[in-house]
Parts: sequence; structure tokens; C-alpha cells
Amino acid sequence: MVKSTSLTKQELTDVLKSAKTSKERNRAVKLLKQFDPIPRYEMDDEGQKTKMQPKKYDYLLGYMCWRCDKVKQSNYKVFWNTSRGAKVICHGCYNQLTEREEIVQMRTANQKAGIIPKGFGLGLTGVGDS
Ligand SMILES: [Zn+2]
Repeated sequence: MVKSTSLTKQELTDVLKSAKTSKERNRAVKLLKQFDPIPRYEMDDEGQKTKMQPKKYDYLLGYMCWRCDKVKQSNYKVFWNTSRGAKVICHGCYNQLTEREEIVQMRTANQKAGIIPKGFGLGLTGVGDS
């Protein structure tokens, strides 16, 4: 991808953080969108609802989501306390993580109740084959 800026992603992230006007912010957001995201999913196991704190602002924020590595313009920001410090993530990632947690809990509960046998549901059990 050809980038119409000589600034690095880190520099633009700093510009975004310190932007005083919406014009500055929009410009940084626009330029940051030209970078390919490098998502980090390695902390997903720590994505419990109790560790995340969504916050709604009455103005539009511009920030980089730590997890999906995309620039976001939103009224929502989520603070995530991981073992490697506090991370800022977007509302989309927050939803993904909480859904993921619910699915894990549901699966564990169903396995305990014997509704779903262990290992079932992956299409690998070969039910019907003999
Ligand atoms: Zn995100």
C-alpha cells in the first residue's frame, strides 16, 4: 500500500493522542487507516468481562485499538486490565471478547450437565460413520 505520509504509525498514534482539534484528529485517523492492522489476540484468554471497563464519552474519540490494531473514532473506549498492563480496546473487540467468554462458559456448563459430550461439536467425532 502506498502511504501518503512520511510519518510512522507510532508517530501518527502520538499525533492522534495529542490532537487538540477535530481537524487534526481526522487527519491522523485518515493517515492511520492506510496502515495494515497487526491484530494481537494473544491476550484473549484474559478477556473476562470483570477485567474490562467500557466507558462512554459524550464526544467522539480517536484512538488505536490495542487488540485489532485499527484506528477508531467512537464514543466508546474500553479499558482492559491484562497481566501485561492496561490496554485500550474498541467496543467491537469488547463484544467479541465477552461473547467468547459466554461461549466458553456455556460449553463448560453443558459439558458438566452432560448435554454436549467432550469433543463434540467440532465435526470431528465422526457420528454416523462406522
Ligand atoms: Zn478493536
